[in-house]
Amino acid sequence: MKVEIIPCLEDNYAYLVEAGDDLAVVDPSEAAPVLAALAGRRLTHILNTHHHWDHVGGNLALKEKFGAPIVGPAKDAARIPGIDVGVDEKSGWQFAGHAVQVLEVPGHTRGAIAFVMDGHVFTGDTLFVMGCGRLFEGDAPTMWASLSKLIMLPDETKIWCGHEYAKSNARFALSLEPGNQALVQRARNMGPVSVPSKMALEKQTNPFLRVAQLRGAFGMDGADDAAVFAEIRRRKDSF
Ligand code: ZN
Ligand code: FE
Repeated sequence: MKVEIIPCLEDNYAYLVEAGDDLAVVDPSEAAPVLAALAGRRLTHILNTHHHWDHVGGNLALKEKFGAPIVGPAKDAARIPGIDVGVDEKSGWQFAGHAVQVLEVPGHTRGAIAFVMDGHVFTGDTLFVMGCGRLFEGDAPTMWASLSKLIMLPDETKIWCGHEYAKSNARFALSLEPGNQALVQRARNMGPVSVPSKMALEKQTNPFLRVAQLRGAFGMDGADDAAVFAEIRRRKDSF
């Protein structure tokens, strides 16, 4: 399975996923850059992680051009333009003969999902490089439960997220953990494109996954994980 990065809008990423004769796009914010990246190839599937316009904006134009079915969260079908196949954790999905695991990861939106296939995870706006999405349609315990599902993926899993926010996320992460050497190194060596990340690296450098390490620093020794996560999110929102 091969993944290609398509920069869209200001700081969005769509992705082309190619396996055998199948070619899917994940979160097409807009059609034009996807068409350019296709360079004459035929799109077979359109995948959406959540309903926000900067992830589904290209759905209808691409569907019209290629007749490609749109696959997205069953729980949010009403808000996914042109959706043909609603998926959830039970249904999973299948792409080019590969089993695709669907994780329901509410928090950023109620219906958000992540697609896990062949050692790759497409996280949309749930997990970012050194960050996580804002809590627009869920509370902190809900988002923490969602991130906890992603943390369970193997360390080698490649992470492809919906936006390039790594630089500003690194600044926030360093403000919390200036002595975290993995983080210092990563921030120092960062290029303009931070994807793909790997789960192991996120566990070392993403403050939203480092609840256990930050609990003491916040003086929250008795607090549960979700409460510590909420404090990290609160600080980021006003950073
Ligand atoms: Zn979003
Ligand atoms: Fe987004």
